Amino acid sequence: MENSSFTVTQNNIKNFSHIELKRLKHQVDAQLSKDRVRQTIAERESTISSCSHCKGKSFIRCDVTRQGHQRYRCKSCKKTFSSLTGILWWLKMCLIRWLTNYF
Ligand SMILES: [Zn+2]
Repeated sequence: MENSSFTVTQNNIKNFSHIELKRLKHQVDAQLSKDRVRQTIAERESTISSCSHCKGKSFIRCDVTRQGHQRYRCKSCKKTFSSLTGILWWLKMCLIRWLTNYF
């Protein structure tokens, strides 16, 4: 966003109704959460150094998950994993559900 667009929005915000402000806040919160999740996933992807199953150090990129995350295949145990593998199951399901609804 250009600074001028930001300034216009900032100047207009005082004319917004309470409902418009709440809607804007919801949009801003959703955008911030989305950015935080993307950043966390990108950080996890950049630090993958071993297989999530056997800790083998030799793996290759194979494809992309339905959620768009890089999937790897371990050369030792032949299992696949992604940056989300190893996260507690319930957290993973919450994250996938959230990503599916908001992206
Ligand atoms: Zn492995």
